[in-house]
Amino acid sequence: MISLINRYVTAFGPSGNEDEVRSLLQADLKQLGAETQIDALGNLSCLHAPGKDKNRSRVLLMAHMDEIGVMVSHIDAQGFCRFLPLGGVRAPWCVGARVRFGNGAIGIIGAEPHEGSTALKFEDLYIDLGASDQSAVTVNIGDSACFDRPLEASGQRLIAKSLDDRIGCVVLLETLRRLRSTPHAVAFVFSVQEEMGLRGAGVAAFGFDPDFGIAVDVTRTGDTPKARPMEVALGKGPAIKLRDSGMLADPAVVRSLRAAADHAKVPYQLEVLEHGTTDARAIQTARSGVPAGCISIPCRYVHTPSEMVDMRDVEGAIRLLVDLLGRKL
Ligand SMILES: [Zn+2]
Repeated sequence: MISLINRYVTAFGPSGNEDEVRSLLQADLKQLGAETQIDALGNLSCLHAPGKDKNRSRVLLMAHMDEIGVMVSHIDAQGFCRFLPLGGVRAPWCVGARVRFGNGAIGIIGAEPHEGSTALKFEDLYIDLGASDQSAVTVNIGDSACFDRPLEASGQRLIAKSLDDRIGCVVLLETLRRLRSTPHAVAFVFSVQEEMGLRGAGVAAFGFDPDFGIAVDVTRTGDTPKARPMEVALGKGPAIKLRDSGMLADPAVVRSLRAAADHAKVPYQLEVLEHGTTDARAIQTARSGVPAGCISIPCRYVHTPSEMVDMRDVEGAIRLLVDLLGRKL
């Protein structure tokens, strides 16, 4: 599975530029014998609905294809690019980072001399593509870049860019691959532009009209020095979300997820997240409302070039989902 994850986390996919990730998924889903559809916004979906029971539940599983990134807003005479963030990038974490554009151009993020105690802002930063002047710059206004880092494995821990949320995409793929039978009609949806405000998820959920919706995404942890106390740590199992700043998970969905984890003997954690939300919020508020929840992969350093997850949590999330979908909810 590491080589599968490696293909996904090294792919280029800042919000609005999900094509490469979508192509990878289309190829992998085709290998599993699944038919795919793409809607007007670019969400990729695949319906797994064996059997002919008209009264079966419609279950939506969702992970987002896009990752955080930067977009060029101005190029000066010396060839330095100013940029805006795509999604929740933080300026102080960008300094020294390498970024990669869709055409393969690599830049590094530099910072201007900064005085005082205030934090670095995006206006203090620029991308240096190594160009001698503006005419040598190979990117244009509006071009997007993602962080550029290889995947590293250290024991059970994986370190990479864009584990948020390519790890969710891999969890969905593996769940479909291992799913033997299900009494439900299950849509596996890979959404666009989550990092820009859940923009793909709402229309995808409207389109499928689910009875239940579950997002698979990452969440923060409380297991680093001086972290704000939070009952989520790496390696203790997938987290079942109870709340975040955008939603309260549906209690019946939470019960089903906990029951599936118990049944499959998967250790799990309960997540109460202070800041941030996921596609589950957009699913929950689609149409006239959808009972929704979220399975979170604990992740340190979310939205930096080096996010970290534990493979035991990833494996647990897959086993939990396979168990959940295999039985009546
Ligand atoms: Zn995410």
